[in-house]
Formats: sequence, structure tokens, C-alpha cells
Amino acid sequence: RTVYVNGDYLPESEGRVSIFDRGFLFADGVYEVTTVLDGKLVDFDGHAARLERSLRELDMPMPMTRDALLEVHHRLVAENDIDEGLVYLQVTRGAADRDFAYPAEETEQTVVLFTQAKPGLAKAPEKGLSVDLQPDLRWGRRDIKTVQLLYPSMAKMAAKRAGHDDAWMHEPGGTITEGTSNNAYIVKGNTIVTRQLGNEILHGITRAAVLRLAREAQMKVEERAFTVEEAQSADEAFVTSASTFVMPVTSIGGKAVGDGQPGRIAGRLREIYLDEARAKAL
Ligand code: PMP
Repeated sequence: RTVYVNGDYLPESEGRVSIFDRGFLFADGVYEVTTVLDGKLVDFDGHAARLERSLRELDMPMPMTRDALLEVHHRLVAENDIDEGLVYLQVTRGAADRDFAYPAEETEQTVVLFTQAKPGLAKAPEKGLSVDLQPDLRWGRRDIKTVQLLYPSMAKMAAKRAGHDDAWMHEPGGTITEGTSNNAYIVKGNTIVTRQLGNEILHGITRAAVLRLAREAQMKVEERAFTVEEAQSADEAFVTSASTFVMPVTSIGGKAVGDGQPGRIAGRLREIYLDEARAKAL
């Protein structure tokens, strides 16, 4: 594979960053994952806008213009011949002597991009996900897409060890925040419920598109916190993320959701999301 490191396109074995990189020492960096369908980028501008916001919240500038970033994405997709897959992008504050204080502003940011081929990514899921329940022990700025992913990684491993596919995380009052790497939804009757935006969850790019499409299709949407009990007595549940689109959830904390089969509304949303994603991809 060809990777991009600070302006250079290199074979992956030659990609290097400093041991003093603040991404490595402090998780002082942010990332984006953009999906590739039919060799084209899904919602590139949504991801670029969120990258800029994440960086701004951490007092970092965009390392290059939107157009330059698009060009790097396109070149990697072409060189690595990606038809279905993803482009991973990471920007850190760069390498400097280890110090909690940020280094001088001139410090060069580290910018790394690579691709992952995922053939069959958009195939219809054969079954729904079983999600475990885990306490949400992450920091308080989950709206910033930082590379500090250790807790979600631990929560996902705990879920897998208990025989589940993933975990939904919950707060002390029993309200669900989101999945380890996706936004969480329940459906009651014809109403889709998902947590409102705030510092407690990542502002999913797929979430924004799916909620817009649901409203355009005259479905009812409520953006509010929901509890574990509500989730376990819902008619349907699903998750969204760039690389999984809309995925049905059929079990929550060991309890079957509805009839235990992937839901109709989740299936419909997946279809309309994928149709638009392909049609608008860059
Ligand atoms: N929440 C979390 C915690 C995530 O890590 C992700 C994916 N990175 C999402 C939600 C989904 O966001 P998106 O739709 O932009 O992929």
C-alpha cells in the first residue's frame, strides 16, 4: 500500500513518525474515517468540516485546504485501487520535547493518511448486532474526534468476551450515550429516538445524513437521551457510522429487541442512505 506522511507518498513500510510525536505521547491528535464506495468518497465535505471543528477545539489549524485534502484522498484511493473501503486520516500537534504545555505554534503538524480495502462493505447485513451494556467512562469532550480510543476499545473487548458484537455505553442515570464507534438509535412505533448533540457524544456524519433522510421521508425523529429500559423495550434499534452505514441491533444487554429480527425502519434507512451516499460521492 501507498500511504501519505507529511507531504510524501510512500510504501507503507517506509511511513515513519517521531517517537516524540504528541499523538503518540499524549493522544494529542484527531482523526477522520471516510468511506469509499465505487471508488468515490462518501460525504467528504462532512468529514472535512468535522476535522476542522475538532482541530479548532484543540487550538490547531487545518494542515491544508479542503481541496488539497481531497486530492490526497483521491490519490491514495487511486494508487491503492480501492473500490470499497475507507481512508483514515490523522492529524497531530507534531513532535516536540515532552511537555504538557503545547509546543510553539510553528511546530509542524503530523499528517498521516492510509487506506483500507473492505470488499463487500455495503452488502446487506445477514443479521443484527448483539450489543452489551458498558458504563461510559470516557472523558467529557466526546464531540472532539481525538485519537484517545482506549476506553471504547476496552468496552468493545469486554463486550466481545461476553459474547456480544459491540457495546452501548451508558451514564450513571441509565441513559445511553452511544456505541463504542457508532451512534445509537431506538425506534418506538414510528418514532426514531437518538441522543441529542452535545459534549457527550460524537457528532456522527452518518447520523446527520440519516436524520435528514428520515425527516425527508416523513419519519418522526426525537433527539433526546433514552434509557437502557426504554432501549430494551423498543420495537427496533440500530447504529450508524461511516463504515457500517445503518446496522440493525437485535439484542441489547442480553434482551432481544422487538421480535429479535433486524427492523424494517433500519432496513429502509440503510437503503435510502446508501442510495444517496453513492449518488453524491466525490
Ligand atoms: N460515535 C463514536 C464514538 C465514533 O467513534 C463514531 C465513528 N468514528 C461514530 C459515533 C460515528 O460517526 P460517523 O458517522 O461520523 O462515522
